[in-house]
Amino acid sequence: MRHEVGDWDKAVQVLQDAQEVAIATHVNPDGDALGSSLAASLGLRQLGKRTYPSLGTSPLSVPPNYFFLPAVESFVQPGDLPDADVWLVLDCGAADRLGELESRASQARHLINVDHHAGNNEFGDLNVVVTTASSTAELVTHLLIDSGVEVDRDIATCLYTGIVTDTGRFQYSNTTPDVLRLAADLLAFDVPAAAIALEVFESSPFGYLKLLGRVLERAVLDESAGFVYSWITLEDLKVTSVAPDETEKVIDVVRSTRSAEVAALVKEQPDGTFRVSLRSKGPTSVGEIARTNGGGGHELAAGFTASSVDAATTAVLSALGRRAAR
Ligand code: 5GP
Ligand code: MN
Repeated sequence: MRHEVGDWDKAVQVLQDAQEVAIATHVNPDGDALGSSLAASLGLRQLGKRTYPSLGTSPLSVPPNYFFLPAVESFVQPGDLPDADVWLVLDCGAADRLGELESRASQARHLINVDHHAGNNEFGDLNVVVTTASSTAELVTHLLIDSGVEVDRDIATCLYTGIVTDTGRFQYSNTTPDVLRLAADLLAFDVPAAAIALEVFESSPFGYLKLLGRVLERAVLDESAGFVYSWITLEDLKVTSVAPDETEKVIDVVRSTRSAEVAALVKEQPDGTFRVSLRSKGPTSVGEIARTNGGGGHELAAGFTASSVDAATTAVLSALGRRAAR
């Protein structure tokens, strides 16, 4: 057993006994979601399993920053997934974050839920939920090793990508000595760390600069609440030719505002809803704010869905006001 997780050994056993494993993660996948999925897939294939990594949105698409990941071409369209007796669900705080794969996953004979999100509602038959883990990739590393997988360069590249993205390039408070030791062990497999950093963090289409210009120009600071926010419309994306999945890092610029503890970026969606990305520098838990509004996430990074920019920022401000009143 690791991390005091009661289901750890059972999860290892089920993976070892499996013939076919479907691998799923949350919609709008980030580096941890994609890296963990592909590492698990490569590792289980090494053990002779058939694996089907997939994503819960049709047609399936991987953000361009992650095209470099080994085996990225092996993702299976959600509609083409064969039956698998084991479903390995990674980095997914709640079953409804699986998108189109939710109902298939819920019918699985064995559903293994491996995650590090606080508030994960343990929707699996087996739950490996470790909220102190830096990333799901950290948990997948140990699950694979315990299952008998020999980490190689490709697997290490996927795992390292998950860790470097979820720790914000080893900047966030989840960067412990153990995490740095694990990253060092992974780098020893000749992982191209500098190339990964370039692909993930320093590579955008030119239109991204124009998009940033629009978003930063309209940013609003509520100094008394310590809250900064801005928004991205569908029109912004159209005019600048930036794809929705290339907007993941915009919030990092907004949140750098010195006098704001909490930052929000509201993104208009094709279905008329608005996705809200929240970040906190602490002590405010944006995870709590997101959960109050039907979403979820971590203490310092979370999200929810709102009906408008106004509704989104009003909801956050009212939560911050309640905190101030306490
Ligand atoms: P992001 O702002 O990068 O989309 O999300 C930040 C964090 O919150 C990620 O860990 C993401 O998985 C989580 N998150 C974002 N939106 C939701 C949501 O609607 N529900 C849940 N459970 N988690 C979310
Ligand atoms: Mn994660």
